[in-house]
Order: sequence, then structure tokens, then C-alpha cells
Amino acid sequence: MLFAGRGGVLYPGWREGNVKFWLLPLVLASHLTVAAPIFVDRAVVVTFDDLPFTSVPNEDDVTLENMTHRLLQSLQYAGVPAVGFVNENKLYREGNLDIARVSLLRSWIKAGFDLGNHTFSHLSINRVPLGVFEADLLRGEIITRPLMHDEGRTLRWFRPPFLHIGKTTADILALEGVLHEHGYTLAPVTVNNSEWQFAAAYAKAQAQGDAATANRIGAAYVPYMGTVFTWAERLSDDLFGHAIPQVLLLHANSLNADYLADLADMLKQRGYRFISLAEALKYPAYSLPLNVSQLEGESWLERWSRDVGLRPSRSPSAPGFILKQAGRDGRSAY
Ligand SMILES: [Zn+2]
Repeated sequence: MLFAGRGGVLYPGWREGNVKFWLLPLVLASHLTVAAPIFVDRAVVVTFDDLPFTSVPNEDDVTLENMTHRLLQSLQYAGVPAVGFVNENKLYREGNLDIARVSLLRSWIKAGFDLGNHTFSHLSINRVPLGVFEADLLRGEIITRPLMHDEGRTLRWFRPPFLHIGKTTADILALEGVLHEHGYTLAPVTVNNSEWQFAAAYAKAQAQGDAATANRIGAAYVPYMGTVFTWAERLSDDLFGHAIPQVLLLHANSLNADYLADLADMLKQRGYRFISLAEALKYPAYSLPLNVSQLEGESWLERWSRDVGLRPSRSPSAPGFILKQAGRDGRSAY
């Protein structure tokens, strides 16, 4: 369920904007007494959208296998219990199911990682009727659910494309019903960022054989993500007075295949430990209801901030040279 069954019940005034910012620690404190545990340290869930791949220099089997292998190896080495969210339309080539691409998904599961549903065709619920969205959601599990089942696992996570969950409160509740009916739990995002624009620029430089530019992009990537975490940590502190377990959104691309290890090191140096999505969602903040947002890629931290009357700054944007290099390839990939 979207709000773990608590939306509009424990916090009846929340949707109407009656809960003041200064009340939030009290509201959470009362909740904490009935829902352990409290995360006082820094913890983060690492998630990847748009599986089996996005932003690669080319889409031949060898490149995709190599990208996937290196990304999974980096995650395993760093001890990151990641979740990957699948768009099953990417499993087809010229209308036919591509067994090599299905194998990429199997690699994620066999390496110990959970897969989730990101709809079949990366559809926004804000742009189509609910029935159309539900059909696309179900079409998006046809391959993934049996793959998970074969390894004794259950498909249960859903990540909404563009982080859209409906244009009205009624839409959000309707989505909640659909997800509940089909056994899905919504996977939030608190650390949204412009990694996808770095990745588009990086893949383009690789495709052009421009190693110098690719290296320059890669060198800027992890420091940029440091600024993103500073921003997310500040929002968390402003709202809750302490760190909450963060949920990072990344994508399955060649940039992360090459730089995930460096990113994981940076996060460890900041004091983060890597936790599972299930563990993070035990934290009370993730039971707070969400208000309507039509902003593309708006994180839960930003939504919660607006709910208590704050006007949060947006996640730091990518440097100009990244946007210039990404060009038209840097279209939204949330
Ligand atoms: Zn996506």
C-alpha cells in the first residue's frame, strides 16, 4: 500500500496542510514509540531504474552483458543490497523477445538482487486513464515475475515512472488500490538527481570514441553526487531533525558500471551503510501520506517538505558541460 495503511488516519490534517512544520518532530516522536527502529545513523538504499539498460554506447549483446556484469560485480563487492526496476518493453528487439536481454535480468536475480516493476513501457500515471496504466503495469511483469519465482523470490516492488503517482488525491488512492490488488509496494525516492544526464553524456562520449570527455564526465560524477547527498541530508535535517534512511535513484547504465565502486566509497566515507528497501520502509517517515505533485521526478523529501509549508530547493542540477554534452540524449529518464 502507498502509505502502509496509515494515510489520512494517523495524520488527518496532513492533506489539508494543517500540520505545521514545528509539529512534525512531535508527530514523528509519537509514532516512533509504536514503530521501531529509529535510524540515527546514515543509511541508504540504492535502486536502479530502467532495467535492463539505459544510456549505453551501443546496444549489442556484448556491451550490455559487460555493462551488467561490471555493475553487479561492483554492487556485490561494495555490499550494496540493490533493487532494479524493469521496463519489459526493453526485452524486445524488432518485436521479438530477446533471450540475451532476459538473461541480463536473470543475472541480477542470480547475483542476489531483487527486481521490481517499472511498468512495461515507462508510462506516467498522470498521462493516461487508470485502466490503461494498470494494463501496462501487468504487462510489465510477464517475464520478471516468473524469473523471480524461479529463484524462490516474489516480485513486490513498484517504482512509478517519472515518480508520478497521480494528479489528484483520488488518483493516488486509486493507484494504491491497484498496487495492493496486485501485491505491490510503492518504492519511494528521496535522493533524486541528474545522474541520468551524466549517463547520457558519458554514453555519447563513449559512442564517439572520445575517451578524454568520458573521463572528464566520470571524474565529475561522484563529486556531483556528493552535493546531491548534502542537499538531501539538509532536507532530512530540516524536516525531521535527524537523518532518515535515504533511497537513492540511479539507472542501469555504463556510467554506473564504471563508477559505482567510487560512488559507494564516497557514501561510505560520508558515514553511510547500505540497507535493503524493506529495512528502510520500516522507518516511520515512509508511512506519511503523500500529497499530489505533478513535478517530474519530485522526491518524497520534497513532497513532505511542501506538505508542511516549506519550499524545498530542487535537487542540484548537472554542470553546464554535462548538459551540453548530453544534448538531446539528456531527456528525462526518471
Ligand atoms: Zn524510469
